[in-house]
Formats: sequence, C-alpha cells, structure tokens
Amino acid sequence: MLKLCVTDSFEAAHYLPGHPKCSQLHGHTYKVEVMIETDEEADMVIDFGELRVKLREALSEYDHKLLNEVMERLPTTENLARILHSKLNAALPRYRLTVRVWEGEDKWAEYSK
Ligand SMILES: [Zn+2]
Repeated sequence: MLKLCVTDSFEAAHYLPGHPKCSQLHGHTYKVEVMIETDEEADMVIDFGELRVKLREALSEYDHKLLNEVMERLPTTENLARILHSKLNAALPRYRLTVRVWEGEDKWAEYSK
C-alpha cells in the first residue's frame, strides 16, 4: 500500500455549549492532514500540488471563522474530521482518503473511509 499525504492548517474560533472547559469562546490552530492510500502502480498517483489545492479549498470555508456559525453540527474535532473527509472525498472520488485534524499540538481526530 502506498500512502501520500499533504498538510495544511487554519485558524478558527469555537465554543462547545455546556462543556466544562470549552464552553467559552476561544480559538485553535487546526492542522489538517489528508492522506491517500492506494495500490495503484502509477509513477505518480496524484500531483502533490493538486492535492494541496483541494485541501486548501476544503479549509477555506472554515479559516478565520467562528465554527459554530459555519458548521451544522457541534464544532468538535471529530465533526471537523468527518465534514472535511466528506468534502475531500467529493473532490477526490477516486481515492481512499484519511483525514486527520489536529486541535493544537497534542490531540487529533481522524476519519477514513
Ligand atoms: Zn476548543
């Protein structure tokens, strides 16, 4: 299995109503990795530049936004991973994708399908 990955990041604010720590409005730098897994034998499965553009497009909707206003579900890292996977899967339908979203330096959520 061959794996390819690009990484980008965005800044956003959120709050989680009722949460003991995260109920107050605050911000994070979210790092996002999108990984393609393939058993294709092609010399180049996808251009990294193209993959980077797709990731940037998916993140642009959330960059410097209040996530509570732009997400339909609660803006948790889990839901960001799900929604970014869905968007990237629509943009890159040929590939098996894994999307990992880092909330700060030491925690992440990952979704793959
Ligand atoms: Zn938070």
